[in-house]
Amino acid sequence: MTAPIVIVGAGFSGAVVARQLAEAGIASWVVDGRSHVAGNAHTERHDNGVMVHVYGPHIFHTGHAEVWDYINRFGDMVPYNHRVKAVSAGRVYSLPVNLHTINQFFGTTFTPAQARAFIAGKADSSIGEPVSFEDQALKFVGRELYEAFFAGYTQKQWGMAPSELPASILARLPLRFSYEDSYFNHPWQAIPRNGYTPIVEAMLDHPLIEVSLGRQVSAGDLTDAEHVFWSGPIDEWFAHRHGRLGYRTLDFVADESGGDHQGCPVLNYCDVDVPHTRVTEHKHFAPWESHDRTVTFTEFSRLAGEGDIPYYPIRLVEEKAQLHDYVSAARSATGVTFLGRLGTYRYLDMDVTIKEALEVARVFIESRVKNSPMRSLVVDPL
Ligand code: UDP
Repeated sequence: MTAPIVIVGAGFSGAVVARQLAEAGIASWVVDGRSHVAGNAHTERHDNGVMVHVYGPHIFHTGHAEVWDYINRFGDMVPYNHRVKAVSAGRVYSLPVNLHTINQFFGTTFTPAQARAFIAGKADSSIGEPVSFEDQALKFVGRELYEAFFAGYTQKQWGMAPSELPASILARLPLRFSYEDSYFNHPWQAIPRNGYTPIVEAMLDHPLIEVSLGRQVSAGDLTDAEHVFWSGPIDEWFAHRHGRLGYRTLDFVADESGGDHQGCPVLNYCDVDVPHTRVTEHKHFAPWESHDRTVTFTEFSRLAGEGDIPYYPIRLVEEKAQLHDYVSAARSATGVTFLGRLGTYRYLDMDVTIKEALEVARVFIESRVKNSPMRSLVVDPL
């Protein structure tokens, strides 16, 4: 160990904490089991020159001005408006569900007010506070749109019926009664001109930060550390003593060809009998570049096994109970702080990850000044 402060994970969480500490004069050692920084946001150029989001599509979007300003310090963020199309029962639609989707799907020419009234008539008003994904969908869009766009995709993505999943997953997607078809509502949406990896490298490029890649560490290796920031899976820190938390992982089948494969960056496949969830054509994330050839990733979701890279925390009843045990263990642990998507076992977007890492670093720097112990959890994952 080269510095008393160890940061495990060189994704956005770890890099932001390392940077903030370094700027406050605190040295740290950042260690990551993989051979690259940026975690699942890692990007690299394919042989044909196209910038590839190696672990699936990552679009930066935020409503937090301080996060937007922060990321812009480390790279050139090119404004980008993410638009997604969806295939359902052999037809292509606009997504997220907007006025165009509704008019396409029902063969109508509704105005916004007419569509709103029409969908209100479809929505199941007997559902009070929606608990499950299915309730949330039936309450807001009604059965036909739910079955066409959400039921099959969600079954494939999560490996279980939407009636078993929490409403919060669907709450990520907007429903609009206008022709606005941007996938996100946030005021700042962008793709980094040179990919995410150089941004994270720039964050870590500081004389007070040492980075070791390709090095797997466990809690037992770090007993001499003054403090550890752990952005790996929270259950891994505790050697899975309360069992393994469930994660979904993704498999990508890459294909290279000439020209333009699908004409958009992400095409979702909503039918349950199509095995993949979506196809990403990476060059459309960088419309400012020009490439004769293309590369696509066909994406399949499955339960993460022991050696797999975790992507999505499942957070069902079983995992929630285990998480409770891990959070109790974390609360009584000293000398460690858990952060990030894996460290807090939450479905976080990149901007929230950065925002929380800034907060974690601020609390740490403050606790040092006051000479008080650092909290193990700055954000409560429950
Ligand atoms: N979803 C869906 N149909 C779609 C797209 C998304 O049912 O065509 C649901 C699905 O359950 C998914 C969730 O909405 O997990 C969130 O979608 P998002 O695009 O935000 O997922 P991510 O890009 O984070 O995988």
